[in-house]
Amino acid sequence: MKIVYNKYIPFKGFGLMNILDLVFSRRPENEITLVSKRHEKTHTYQQYELLMIASIISLVLCNIYASWGYLLGVLIIPFAIYIAAFLIEAFIPPYHNAKECFDGKCFCNKIKAIPTWLGKVWMDAYRDNCFEREANMNERNVNYHIHRRWCGWAWYILKRNKRKGK
Ligand SMILES: [Zn+2]
Repeated sequence: MKIVYNKYIPFKGFGLMNILDLVFSRRPENEITLVSKRHEKTHTYQQYELLMIASIISLVLCNIYASWGYLLGVLIIPFAIYIAAFLIEAFIPPYHNAKECFDGKCFCNKIKAIPTWLGKVWMDAYRDNCFEREANMNERNVNYHIHRRWCGWAWYILKRNKRKGK
């Protein structure tokens, strides 16, 4: 794992960003613990697995349709899977914070609360999607990467978090 310390990547509010084991960090070196390194290592495995899945699907499509154009799938499919995981968290119950945002408010205030609610849905979908959950739940397990199942993240699609204020 190579860590690049800088002031610009990732966006404000995020500490680390991992691209195929190249990690960008806004935080200084002394704040990067073994726990965060293990967390990022899990993301590395996830990204290589997504690339592998995308490569197989793309090559099969290239063969079926006799066109190299489907190799673009290698780039598109990993993002498509990530976006799908994100949308599962955003739009399939248990819902996010709807009660605390909307309950007991008049119609006008309910309308005004929509952007706040969407912001919370967005943050929850980022924090709770299966990729982030696998990394978070196992970052303190020293042996995780020895025993990890292939595509360990996929199991977390089924094990969804309970949330407060459904
Ligand atoms: Zn993460």
